Formats: sequence, structure tokens, C-alpha cells
Amino acid sequence: MPGLGLGTWENEDPDACAESVRTALESGYRHVDTAQIYGNESAVGRGIADADVDREDVFLATKVWIDKLAHDDVLASTEESLAKLGTEYVDLLYVHWPAGKYDPEATLSAFEELHESGTIDRIGVSNFEPNHIETARSAVDAPIFANQVEIHPLLQQRELHEFCSDAGIELVAYSPLARGDVFGVDVLSEIADDRGVSEAQVSLAWLRAKDIAAIPKATGADHIRDNWASLELELTDDEVARIDDIDGERRKVDPDFGPASW
Ligand code: NAP
Repeated sequence: MPGLGLGTWENEDPDACAESVRTALESGYRHVDTAQIYGNESAVGRGIADADVDREDVFLATKVWIDKLAHDDVLASTEESLAKLGTEYVDLLYVHWPAGKYDPEATLSAFEELHESGTIDRIGVSNFEPNHIETARSAVDAPIFANQVEIHPLLQQRELHEFCSDAGIELVAYSPLARGDVFGVDVLSEIADDRGVSEAQVSLAWLRAKDIAAIPKATGADHIRDNWASLELELTDDEVARIDDIDGERRKVDPDFGPASW
């Protein structure tokens, strides 16, 4: 899985979303993250088709929303996602949230069938805590490849990171720029000034130093390219340690927010 991808939540205008995806792919990105609930799978598919990049070279991830997590709904809604995305398979299909119609056995047996048929290359989960992961792992034989959760310098998720590392599960950081809050954090601004880069790049380089994949959402070419340039930034051990020392937990997405209100 390419460690830096493009997020697409709230990139809802179809033309703008397709253009963001095309621009990202033509700038070097090879990982695109969407979800059924974002309402933009068709636009994401159009962006991939428009880009001068082969589909097989793109790591494409989508997520099944909580009202489609009954066994047969997983199968049917994934077919709909594939049709919208204009593809015959996705590289990674996530359970978006362990909520709503989620039932470990019923939901994940459908994911396993999709995996066995080659419709999905990998099974992922999102917004899962260690107890959810333990239950999920005992419900399926196929490996759980990744857990996508909120992680950034202001919410470092140290215990979950250790748990997933020990379990051999990749972590994918959503809201890796804390939805813009990384700008104006003193330590990040100091490092950014010293290195002549943006706070976004510092945050993404810190995640990379932790072996955590990141999927920053960016709409225009400037942000898309700024984030891509983070791959050139190697933080020193001292810089990583200074970011590690940021205290507190500033969560941007309430774990109960999605299921409760969507
Ligand atoms: P984010 O990536 O932390 O922040 C996005 C915001 O930062 C946007 O306002 C964007 O503006 C701005 N931005 C991006 N790059 C920038 C740069 N270089 N300089 C200045 N501003 C920049 O937040 P997010 O969208 O919440 O998270 C990223 C992705 O994670 C989502 O799009 C989605 O794919 C995924 N996600 C998943 C879940 C889940 O439950 N699994 C939940 C939340 C998010 P512009 O748009 O104007 O460029």
C-alpha cells in the first residue's frame, strides 16, 4: 500500500473531485481513499479514468457504510461501488465503522467471500479499537490488512499503534492534518520554518517516520503537491521526538459522531 494517499471526504462537487484525483495521480500519488457515504465514488472513478495512469497501478480503497453491513447488503453495495468507481475490483475494502448493522460474523463473512472471489484484494476496518479488532480476527480466517483511524500530531494514538503493530495490521491515518489544526501548533511551525516547508509536510513526514500511512484530503493542485512533497522530508530523530512530546488529545472526528448522526 503506498504510504501517502489522497483523501476525498467532503470533496463532493463531482468535477472538482474528479479533477483532484486526476491531478493527484498525475503528480505521483498511487493511493486514493473514498467511501460509499462520501457520495463521490463516481467522481473518483472518473478522475482515475481521466488520469494518464493505469488502473492496476492505483491502490484504490473504499468503505462500506454502517447501513450496508448486513451480509447481503455488503455484497450488493460493493457491486454498486465497483460500478460507480468503474472498476472490477478494489485494492482495499473497509468496514467504515463498527456500528449500525455491523455484526462481526455476518459482515466479515461477506467481506471474506468478496476476498475469495477477487473482488477485493484486502480486508480493512476503520474506527476499530483493539477489542473490535480482536473480535473481528476471531470471526474471519482472512487477514485484516489495515485499520483506518484518526491520527495526527495532536492525537497520536500510541496504544492503538502498538496494538496494530504487534498484530501485523497496517495503520492508516485519517485527518492526518487534523483537518487544518496542525497549522499554528508551535512545535510544528518551528520545524516547518527551520526546514522551509509547511506544517502539513512536517505532520505527514512525522507519520511516515512512524510507519503510518496517511491520506490527507486536498482539493487544489497546490495542496495536493505540497503534501506530495512531504516524501522528500526526512525528519531528524530530535524533530520526531519533539513532535512525540506534544501533549493532549485533540480529536477532530468523534468516534460516536458518525453512527449517531448519519
Ligand atoms: P485532513 O486531511 O486532515 O485535512 C483536510 C483539510 O486540510 C482540507 O481543508 C484541505 O483543504 C486542507 N489541506 C490539505 N492539504 C493542505 C496543505 N498542504 N496546506 C494547507 N491546507 C491543506 O482531513 P480529512 O479530510 O478529515 O481526512 C483526510 C481523509 O481521511 C478524508 O478525506 C477521508 O478520505 C478520510 N477520512 C476517513 C474517516 C473514516 O471514518 N474512516 C474519517 C475522516 C476522514 P483543501 O480541501 O482546500 O485542499
